[in-house]
Amino acid sequence: MKDALRSPAGCPVCRARLRGSPRCSRCGADLTALMLLAAHAYILRRAARQSLRQSDYQAALASAQAAQRLHSTAEGTLLCILSTAAASPLSEQPQKTARNLADLR
Ligand SMILES: [Zn+2]
Repeated sequence: MKDALRSPAGCPVCRARLRGSPRCSRCGADLTALMLLAAHAYILRRAARQSLRQSDYQAALASAQAAQRLHSTAEGTLLCILSTAAASPLSEQPQKTARNLADLR
């Protein structure tokens, strides 16, 4: 599953596009806390993928959901769906698929 550390889409104050700087280039807002949240979410998604590889599906789901609460991304949504399916006791197939997808980078 391709994933990257992404900055939030826009400045929460003026909606200017962010350029990876801890200060908004338009309004000067301090974006440090926002960037730290995005970085923490990235680390949680990485932990979720690792948990999938180790067949710890409940831990994967918990990490994926925590990441989405901090900074929602499209990749994080997919990770939540995969983790939910893998954590389901109904079938083994979603677990194999989730492990395989967690290995894709
Ligand atoms: Zn701004």
